[in-house]
Amino acid sequence: MENRRHVAERFDGSGVLLEACAFSEKGGWVLDTQHYQQMGGNYLLAHGLGTPVADAVTTFESPKSQSYFVFVRTRDWCPGNWEAPGRFRVAVDGKELAVTFGTEPGWGWQRGGHVALAAGRHVVTVRDLTGFDGRFDAIYFAPCANPVLPTAPADVIAWKDHLSGRDRIAVEEESFDLVVAGGGVAGCAAALAADSRGLKVALVQDRPVFGGNASNEFLIQTLGVMGKSAKILSGLNNVWLPKTPHDPNEREARDNQAHREATMAASGVTLLKNHRATGVMMATGNRIRCVEVRHTHSGAIRRLKAPVFIDCTGDGWLGYWAGADYRYGREACTEFDESWPEKGARWSPDVPDQKVMGATLTMRSIECDHEVPFPEVPWALAVSGTEMTVTRSNWQYEYSDHQLSQIDDHEAIRDHLLRAMYGMFYNARRLPQNRRRKISRLSFIAGKRESRRLMGDYIYTMKDMTESRRFPDTVAEEMRCIDVHYQQKEIGSPYDFYSDAFFRKVPKYYIPFRCLYSRNIENLMMAGRCFSCSHVGLGGPRVMLTCGQMGVATGYAAALCRKHAATPRQVGQAHIAELRHLIGYRE
Ligand SMILES: Cc1cc2nc3c(=O)[nH]c(=O)nc-3n(C[C@H](O)[C@H](O)[C@H](O)COP(=O)(O)OP(=O)(O)OC[C@H]3O[C@@H](n4cnc5c(N)ncnc54)[C@H](O)[C@@H]3O)c2cc1C
Repeated sequence: MENRRHVAERFDGSGVLLEACAFSEKGGWVLDTQHYQQMGGNYLLAHGLGTPVADAVTTFESPKSQSYFVFVRTRDWCPGNWEAPGRFRVAVDGKELAVTFGTEPGWGWQRGGHVALAAGRHVVTVRDLTGFDGRFDAIYFAPCANPVLPTAPADVIAWKDHLSGRDRIAVEEESFDLVVAGGGVAGCAAALAADSRGLKVALVQDRPVFGGNASNEFLIQTLGVMGKSAKILSGLNNVWLPKTPHDPNEREARDNQAHREATMAASGVTLLKNHRATGVMMATGNRIRCVEVRHTHSGAIRRLKAPVFIDCTGDGWLGYWAGADYRYGREACTEFDESWPEKGARWSPDVPDQKVMGATLTMRSIECDHEVPFPEVPWALAVSGTEMTVTRSNWQYEYSDHQLSQIDDHEAIRDHLLRAMYGMFYNARRLPQNRRRKISRLSFIAGKRESRRLMGDYIYTMKDMTESRRFPDTVAEEMRCIDVHYQQKEIGSPYDFYSDAFFRKVPKYYIPFRCLYSRNIENLMMAGRCFSCSHVGLGGPRVMLTCGQMGVATGYAAALCRKHAATPRQVGQAHIAELRHLIGYRE
C-alpha cells in the first residue's frame, strides 16, 4: 500500500477526480469490467447498438471558486479515415465543453478546455453522440493547465486510489473457509458444493449476474453432461430446448438467469457480485494468504483470507498472480502424442505456438413493423468487408490472432469483433428483406474459449479422451466430442473473424482430480477452462457442465482440506475415496 501511495504521489493530486464507474446515474452507459488490468479501470461504454444512449450524470463539490482544466480519460477505439465511432460530449452544469471526446487513439487524457466554477456542487453530464461504443474511464478537473497525469494502467489505479482516499482506508482481512474467484458455472458449482458441506464460502464475480458465458449477458447453452453432479448443476444450467437449442427468446433467457440467481441466493455462500479479484497476497511456503477484491462501481477494496482458494476466472488470474505454472498456446503434436494426421497443423502443430481458440460476441436481431434506420459504418466495413451478412451470430464469428493475447489484448479483440458484427449487419440491411431489422442484442462481453491453463500434477490431453483412460482419482466425466477451432484465414478466407472446427468423436472420458489443483501453489485449486490440460485436451471438457463438474469436485475437496487439515494434493493422495464418495462415485 505504501508503495502504491508513493507511485501515486508522482502525479498531480490537486484537482477533482470523477471515476466513470462511480457515476451516480449511469443512464444507458454500461459498466465494462473486462479490461481492468490492461487499461486501469472499469469504464463506461455507450453500447447503444447505433442509437445514442441516455446521459451518464454525476455531481461533485468544488472546494472553492476556481478555474479548472478538464481532462477526460478516453480513447478513439477505432481510429482511421472516418469520423470516430465512439464520440461523446461532456457538459458541466448544463453547459457543453467545446470538445468532442473519444477522438484520440489509445487510452489517454483528452483535453477538454477549461471551466470557471463557483464553490459548491456541480453537475457533470456525459452525452453519447453515436451509440457506437464510446467509452470513458475518468474525468479530472485540474487547477493547472498541464498537470502530470498517469498513463500506465498500474499507475492509474494507484493514483485513483490515492485521490479517492481508498489508499488511506485500513482494510481488514475477512476470514472464510474458501474463496472462489469467478462466478461462471464452474465457480458457482464450486461455491455451492463447499457450502453444502458447511464451509464459509465467498464467491467473487465481477459481473452483476452469475453464469459467465451461460449468463444472459452472453447467452450460451450449457452443454456436456452433469455426471454425478446433477443435484448442484441443475440449479445452474440453461434449459431452452427443444426447438431452438442455440436461440432462446428473451423470456427464456430471463427465466434461466432468474433460476440461477435464485439458486445462488438460496445458498449460504457470501455472494460478492460486482466485485473483481485484482491480486493476491502470499503467505510463506507458496501459499496464497488472501485475495484482494474491488467493488466494480465504488472501487472499495476488501481482502478475503482463506486456507484454500479456487480459481474459476477462466483466465487463471489467481494462479497467475500467485506465480502458478501455466501454459498459453498450443503444444507440439509430439509432446503428448496429439496429432490427427488428416487434420494436420490446424489440429495440432509440429512446433509449439501461441495460437488459441478465439473469442466471440453473441448477436440477435428482430423484425420491426416499420423500416428502421441504421447508420453508416465505414469503420466497421473496413473489418467486415461488404459481402458477408449477418442477422444473428453463431459460434463461427470468432476472432483469434496469435499476435494478440486473449488476455492482454482482449479489448482490441472485442473491438475487432464489434466492427465485424456491425459491418455484417449493415451489409445484411442493404437487402430489401432486412430493412425492418434492428439489432436486439449484441454482447459487449466477448466470450472467451481459451487463454491461460494452470498446470496441475496431471495435464489432461487428447489421449485421455480417445483412449477413454480411467483414473483412480476420477472426479468428472464427459462424452462430448473434442471440438478444436481454427481460423479460416489459415485456409485462405478473406475474413479474419471467421472460424471452423474439427469435431473428433470420442468414447466416454474421465477427468482426474490431479488436473484440478496447482502443482506449485499449495492451496490453489482450479475449475473451468483454466484447469490443467493441453490445448487439445481442453477441446472436450471446456463445455460448461463439464466445467461445473470440476467445480463440484473442487468445492467438495475444499471441505476435505478443512476436515483433514490437508492441502488439495494431500486430499488427492490420502482422501480420494472420500472425495469421490462425496461426489457420488460408489464403485
Ligand atoms: C462463442 C462461444 C460458444 C460456446 N458454446 C458453448 C456451448 O454451446 N455450450 C457450452 O457448454 N460451452 C460453450 N462454450 C465454452 C464455454 O462457454 C466456456 O468454456 C465456459 O464458459 C468456461 O467456463 P468457466 O466457468 O471456466 O468460465 P466463464 O464462463 O468465462 O466464467 C468465468 C467468470 O469469471 C468472471 N471473472 C473473470 N475474471 C474475474 C476476476 N478477476 N474476478 C472476478 N470475476 C472474474 C468472468 O466475468 C466470468 O463471468 C462456448 C464458448 C464461446 C466463447
